[in-house]
Amino acid sequence: MAEVTLKSIEKTYPNGFKAIHGIDIDIDDGEFIALVGPSGCGKSTLLRMVAGLESITGGAVSISGREVNGLEPADRDIAMVFQNYALYPHMTVFNNMAYGLKNRRMAKDEIDSRVRKAADILELAPLLERRPQQLSGGQRQRVAMGRAIVREPSVFLFDEPLSNLDAKLRVQMRVEVKKLQRQLGTTSLYVTHDQVEAMTMADRLVVMNAGVAEQIGTPIEVYDRPATKFVAAFIGSPSMNFMEARIEGGEAVLDDGVKLPLNGSAQGVSEGQTVSLGIRPEHFEPGGDAHGLELKIDLVEHLGADTLVHGHTGGKNALTTVRLSGHQHLAPGETLHLAAAPENLHLFDPESGKRL
Ligand code: ATP
Repeated sequence: MAEVTLKSIEKTYPNGFKAIHGIDIDIDDGEFIALVGPSGCGKSTLLRMVAGLESITGGAVSISGREVNGLEPADRDIAMVFQNYALYPHMTVFNNMAYGLKNRRMAKDEIDSRVRKAADILELAPLLERRPQQLSGGQRQRVAMGRAIVREPSVFLFDEPLSNLDAKLRVQMRVEVKKLQRQLGTTSLYVTHDQVEAMTMADRLVVMNAGVAEQIGTPIEVYDRPATKFVAAFIGSPSMNFMEARIEGGEAVLDDGVKLPLNGSAQGVSEGQTVSLGIRPEHFEPGGDAHGLELKIDLVEHLGADTLVHGHTGGKNALTTVRLSGHQHLAPGETLHLAAAPENLHLFDPESGKRL
């Protein structure tokens, strides 16, 4: 069993910069966790602390119940896959995969059997005698995966392993990596700034912002009930729309007087309170009554499967994006009447950003 526990983890770099502010995560055996967040939020720092490549200045990391703070990377029973693959250019695919095992003085037969088994799983068997420069990007990425697999570690650590691939291959490899992880059942921690990758691959996401874990939850939990405005804006594409509103008689009243019923979902919000009201682009419905939301259209994007309509709503002309399914015959300058179901309205405290 390889659970990974991060308890009150902090990182202060030697220059005094505090990159991680007390993070707690309990990762179950076999679980796939994605660390996701914008550039500079501390994802790589946290991963590197688990790997042992960066010192831990506060708190403790445990793997399978054993604290690893003082252990060298090689003694932590982890394998890491990097963004740049870190392959040795002068070595064959076989030797790239075997390198770590040879270093540990493993018996030749055992090395051979592990490398061939991994090569079969990864469909690299015909390429074992090639060198990295004779491989495509996707094949190189698989060799990097193979090198991690042959070590049969308790934990895989991935640092943006797909970000050097083109968009199509990335989607393909995303599915392959996920299938492989399921098949092997190895506990995994995966860093990405790509929220689609995080949503599709992970059992649970850790959404990070400025060295803090803003929310930890399944992709659906994080999408349906974002804990903060930051998480709401980061998860979902295009981003959630936000409008200023006041709570009056169980309704959210926008600055132009448009009223959106909340159907009791505003518990804990006081009468007269100003809130930040969030609506996802896909949660608007065309229609609604003449007193409802109006979108003055600026731009229409036809994506084939659906249509993105960009425009302005409300007295303060808040920028708003609406996603409608299929082809829509709409043009800039027109007005679109919209409705939104009460269960799809999200309320946040405008000051703290916390969900209300
Ligand atoms: P990206 O997606 O851009 O790789 P990230 O979320 O992985 O970003 P980190 O690389 O973990 O971010 O960096 C977190 C913060 O720590 C950043 O503000 C960065 O500038 C800072 N940082 C990273 N390494 C050091 C260092 N050696 N000394 C001081 N500050 C550092």
